[in-house]
Amino acid sequence: MSLPVVRAVVYFIVMAAIAAFVGAVVQPWAGWAVLVLGLIVQLGYHIVYLGRLERWSRQPSATAELEGDGVWDDVFSRIYRHEKKLLELIARRETEAAEFSAAIQALTDGVILLDPDNHITWCNMTAEMQFGLTLRTDQGQPLANLVRQPEFVAYLAAEEFARPLLLRPDRQEGRVLSVHVLPYGSGNRLMQIKDVTQADALDRMRRDFVANVSHELRTPLTVLAGFLETLQEIELEPDDRRHYLELMTEQSERMQLIVRDLLTLSSMEAAPPPENEEVDMATLLDKLRRDAEMLSGGRHHIVLVAAEGSGDLRGAESELVSALGNLVSNAVRYTPEGGTITLSWHTGKDGGEFAVQDTGIGIEAKHIPRLTERFYRVDRGRSRDTGGTGLGLAIVKHALGRHRATLDISSTPGKGSRFAARFPVSRVVGL
Ligand code: ADP
Repeated sequence: MSLPVVRAVVYFIVMAAIAAFVGAVVQPWAGWAVLVLGLIVQLGYHIVYLGRLERWSRQPSATAELEGDGVWDDVFSRIYRHEKKLLELIARRETEAAEFSAAIQALTDGVILLDPDNHITWCNMTAEMQFGLTLRTDQGQPLANLVRQPEFVAYLAAEEFARPLLLRPDRQEGRVLSVHVLPYGSGNRLMQIKDVTQADALDRMRRDFVANVSHELRTPLTVLAGFLETLQEIELEPDDRRHYLELMTEQSERMQLIVRDLLTLSSMEAAPPPENEEVDMATLLDKLRRDAEMLSGGRHHIVLVAAEGSGDLRGAESELVSALGNLVSNAVRYTPEGGTITLSWHTGKDGGEFAVQDTGIGIEAKHIPRLTERFYRVDRGRSRDTGGTGLGLAIVKHALGRHRATLDISSTPGKGSRFAARFPVSRVVGL
């Protein structure tokens, strides 16, 4: 028996005993009157506390404590403790839910929770931006009514969610989204939306690159195969034969150059960040000048401008030779006979600048942003005739990028161009 019941029974026994005593000593009716009075007092006591409980239950609170005595003290304190625990649990759950939704908000992927009929239950801000949704007003709406692009509507309707959908949203030109639906709970869905614009662009670049390489190699290969066939089938005069062999050598050298540049690019891509060897600029500049003179074969004026002691570079010597050498050889190749090519190196508080200025054919402004793309050439014929592969400036950009340096190109068609490699302070010795 619980304590309150024991108390009630004891109260009743005591009251009955007092009533029996009064009934025996005074009159029987007096005994009955005492008993009824006792019961009324007991009933009144319970009614008062029941009233308190009823009032409190309308707005249960863990702070406004219920106060009672006797039996009700026990009951009230138990209810109060239970209520307090419950409210604490709710507060904890609310905090957890808020943290969970903050974590989903922080995701760079869009997330939309859908019910089994594809109505929006919840979405994060990324998804709002990706699909132009507003959770406050769109909650409960069918998603297909808000994102009406036919392929998206068809994807939702088909209910085949094993593969993600690649979507190019009408309202965000150039963006590519990967939409993936994952079932959870009882028929609910979680839609994950990844922005794969960059990955898609990389993939396209890779495909273009493979197509370009194949094309670049196929041309000389076709020529070679043609000559070989001719040599096998036709009895040629020695002079013609020599001429054909010279042309074949030219084509195979061309292929060798392409493969050499491709290997240079891929070795730079795979290599760890460049070393920090100190590259003696006086020696490097002298080598670049001599290379320019050799390539030019006396057809141009080669000028070198570099202040005494203007500082050395910190980096991978072979990559710097390759990058700066490409700029020099381009200047020679794209400058007609009699032109001037000026190599310069200077350092200042902003870092170091190596520049090659020529008085050559120049480049139209529209081509400049694309010059460092692999195999991009303004004039394919001229590039080929001067032994170009279309990869030189791609190598330059890559090698400079690895040294945190930038390439600045300015040019005036018919007048000449200036290619400047700018190195940050951290790459110049002594700054
Ligand atoms: P290529 O092997 O064709 O020279 P590059 O990547 O070195 O390839 O250069 C890309 C294109 O940029 C060249 O085909 C050429 O059209 C242009 N170019 C580069 N340097 C110069 C320059 N100094 N003057 C004019 N055009 C240039």
